[in-house]
Amino acid sequence: MSITRRTLLVGAGAGAVGLLLAACTPEPQPAPTRTKTPMPRPTAPESVPAPAGWLRSTWATDPYSLGSVSYLPAGADPSERERLAEPVLDRVFFAGEATDSANPGTVVGAVDAARRAALALIAAAGDTERIAVVGAGAAGVIAARMLTDAGHDVTVFEARERLGGRIRSEVDDEQWPVPPQLGAWLLSDDELAALSDRLVDISDETMTFDTATGWTADGEAATVDGAAIAAALQKAESAASDPSIADALAASGVSTDDPALAASLAWLAAMTGADPARASSWYPPDFPADTVHGVTGDLITFLKEHLDGLDVTTASPVVRIAYDDRGVSLRLGTGEALSYDRVVVTAPLGVLQKQGIEFAPALPFAHRGAISALASGFVETVWMRFDEPFWTTEAAIWHVIGGDGLIRTWLNLQPATGEPVLVGLVGGADAEQFAELSERDAAVAARASLAFFAEPAADEG
Ligand SMILES: Cc1cc2nc3c(=O)[nH]c(=O)nc-3n(C[C@H](O)[C@H](O)[C@H](O)COP(=O)(O)OP(=O)(O)OC[C@H]3O[C@@H](n4cnc5c(N)ncnc54)[C@H](O)[C@@H]3O)c2cc1C
Repeated sequence: MSITRRTLLVGAGAGAVGLLLAACTPEPQPAPTRTKTPMPRPTAPESVPAPAGWLRSTWATDPYSLGSVSYLPAGADPSERERLAEPVLDRVFFAGEATDSANPGTVVGAVDAARRAALALIAAAGDTERIAVVGAGAAGVIAARMLTDAGHDVTVFEARERLGGRIRSEVDDEQWPVPPQLGAWLLSDDELAALSDRLVDISDETMTFDTATGWTADGEAATVDGAAIAAALQKAESAASDPSIADALAASGVSTDDPALAASLAWLAAMTGADPARASSWYPPDFPADTVHGVTGDLITFLKEHLDGLDVTTASPVVRIAYDDRGVSLRLGTGEALSYDRVVVTAPLGVLQKQGIEFAPALPFAHRGAISALASGFVETVWMRFDEPFWTTEAAIWHVIGGDGLIRTWLNLQPATGEPVLVGLVGGADAEQFAELSERDAAVAARASLAFFAEPAADEG
């Protein structure tokens, strides 16, 4: 595979950055997996029209994320993140959301992890050193900013042709009322405040989702809540060992087959990536807040001001990092080798777990243990724009209760934008399955997941 290396010296202010960023899209998509045996293909319900516009994420299969957000599986605890965050010989520093104990799996966590790694590196380094940063997501950009401001000579290597990592806004004013967000964009009150505090105040550029409803085959129903899950988790606190959330529910006598509980678990998975069958009940992800804010602007603007003057090299995957107590050597996908004094690695946990970067010598046991102990969770998003709404509800959050649709959580953007746009959120094992579908099958699965709008008499095969 030949990889073109493109160097960007980002230094001419926001306008130029915007142009450069625009020039960096689209990124190469991984080839879809093809099945050899022809399978009977599901059909979309006629009651759900074909969308006029459609976009979806595939973070699970993207070679530069291989997952969406990290979480703690049963048996792991937050010290794994601290172990991963320990500098190696004061030469290799890990940052990125997976290394933050307070707010893992979030943009805030990525920013805080970058600050921690940059400060540790600055404390260990001499006056002016050559520093490499691997990855230009939130963590990489913030780390590079701080290290540059501290007087170091910093180069950022980004595998993709675009910046932002798991922040990805698709700006297309003609097609969409707001930019479809394929990565991070939903924030609780606290997260919105924390992000505005750390990066830039975006509170005026959000829409609020605060009215939820359930949908069953019989129509609109009561929404879901986290009460049964909270009760099971509380009971699991006195268990002899850390059960998964699903095991904790089973132990408390609740069946995960119960449609309302399954819908609650699907909401939890869609917002946190945590698979209830694997996630720790001792260190569980927070159940989603009742009010969620969605960003309505181009999220890359978060990072723009921090990019000013940085040396960012895109389309340059780092495939090997050799290190000793005197320095580091990076090998790029092109075969090129470059020497630095130190390196900050912000590649996602999924990439580290699949050994997308080789370390020489192998990382210490503590780091390898942490990488394998943490779990890489899956969240995928699908944006669908329709010519006409086929729904009448004003509720902004829909939970599908029952049925066998893959996507069980929908956000209705019509009340906020005036346009018939629905956003499907899917998490955990269902998200991994959704990401592996071909474009056609994913579109069918998404429409089939909206089949709860079908007339009761409809005979959908
Ligand atoms: C669908 C989805 C929804 C989310 N929703 C939210 C949300 O609502 N709120 C929230 O706060 N967070 C959310 N998150 C999580 C949030 O996006 C991440 O926690 C955060 O963006 C991670 O930043 P990072 O810098 O740690 O990693 P990344 O953004 O993944 O950056 C790492 C960078 O490293 C690059 N890279 C990988 N391998 C290599 C290599 N070998 N060489 C060079 N570069 C490499 C990648 O291309 C990437 O640009 C969501 C994530 C997803 C996927």
